[in-house]
Amino acid sequence: MDLHDLLGKTFDCECGRRHIVPTEHFIFDSDAIDRLSDMAAGYAENPDYLIIADQRTYEVAGRLIEETLEKRGGAVRHFIVPDQEGESPVTDDATRDIILSQAPRAALYIAAGSGVINDLTKWIAHERKQSFLTFATAASMNGYASANVSATLNGLKVLFHAQASKGVFGTPDIIENAPFDLTTSGLGDVVAKSVSSADWRLNQFLFDEYYCQFSVDLLKDLEPVYLNHPEKIRERDPKAIQALFYALFYSSIAMTITGTSAPASGGEHLISHTIDMVSAINGLKHDLHGRQVGIGAILSAALYEKILMIERPEFDTRPQAIDKHFWGPLSHVVEGEFKKKMPKFELAAKKLSMPRNWDDLRSILKQSLISPKKLKNCLSQSGAAHRIADIRSNDKRIDPGFFLQILKNAHQMRERFTVLDLAIMLGIMPEQAETIISEWVTA
Ligand SMILES: [Zn+2]
Ligand SMILES: [Zn+2]
Repeated sequence: MDLHDLLGKTFDCECGRRHIVPTEHFIFDSDAIDRLSDMAAGYAENPDYLIIADQRTYEVAGRLIEETLEKRGGAVRHFIVPDQEGESPVTDDATRDIILSQAPRAALYIAAGSGVINDLTKWIAHERKQSFLTFATAASMNGYASANVSATLNGLKVLFHAQASKGVFGTPDIIENAPFDLTTSGLGDVVAKSVSSADWRLNQFLFDEYYCQFSVDLLKDLEPVYLNHPEKIRERDPKAIQALFYALFYSSIAMTITGTSAPASGGEHLISHTIDMVSAINGLKHDLHGRQVGIGAILSAALYEKILMIERPEFDTRPQAIDKHFWGPLSHVVEGEFKKKMPKFELAAKKLSMPRNWDDLRSILKQSLISPKKLKNCLSQSGAAHRIADIRSNDKRIDPGFFLQILKNAHQMRERFTVLDLAIMLGIMPEQAETIISEWVTA
């Protein structure tokens, strides 16, 4: 199957659902700006466009898009999302309010940027009930075709439904030459797929939750390119960068068609979200999403490896309460999520204690998991973050003691059941947290 055949299509899937792909164009080519400009009029009631960018991405792409659109006629304006105290913008309610009150209205919005700019444009277009197109400036995350916005509201990291981009565009020249940390952040985000898919499958097995194998398999021809030859990412090899950019795009398609972030977000994402949330409480700047997720993915894979070795499981432990000292002012919101998960521990123990179920689950998970060794190798050989020491907090190395607390408490923040919960029930976590950290993400 040619993945591009899916664009704009509606089809019935083996998972029992009808999938709708709202994104109609995905163009990664040297003439992408021209083609975006040709298509823009088709998505606007009148030729009245607003380009949303930050200072950097306006220079890299926004200005050229503006000039190209102007040549085709119509009103083109731009809005630069302001930096905050010298830092790149973030996706939060305060920034949304700045844009809503200051940015002119338009018939079509165009995001020129990477993750934050795309999310903010998605949010604004949704609030103003207009379509938007995306011009990507980096292969930095897997939200380009996602209908969801990942934002911070009242301090809590949330995901809410908006609308997907009608078209995602990029040029190899800009994506290959993006700041390298952004590219390796994208790699960290996308290699998490094996563990997030395992977590998703785990939920289907334990609680009969919805699961779609088709969306899990979407990346299977792309993954070997960067998993088997990660040094090509370091070399910015055009074919490897293209595979990464495609994988990020189709990873967001997987989330959009299934209506859940589950295909690309499991326990490894909870680790990254927890770093973000606790950093915000303490007024610290956190690292890039995918850099944190990649390390979370190594740890999740290491936990799965330990879990799969267990022949006769005993489910002695049930997590009882959240750590209020750790969550501080966020305790009440985190507690709300955690309470929803509580009944799942009993259900999971019951299901896995029935004859054969444990062995069945192990053989199912083994099919899709990638070893922590391979993930570690991919991230280290590509030049991505793969050790705790690579993670920055306020531009300094993150404190290892703080990271240990993150790993121990991350499972509390979401209702979703993940490998972190299973590891607790089996007595692996938090007892072996330090050992796993020193074995996998210290050196
Ligand atoms: Zn499906
Ligand atoms: Zn992610």
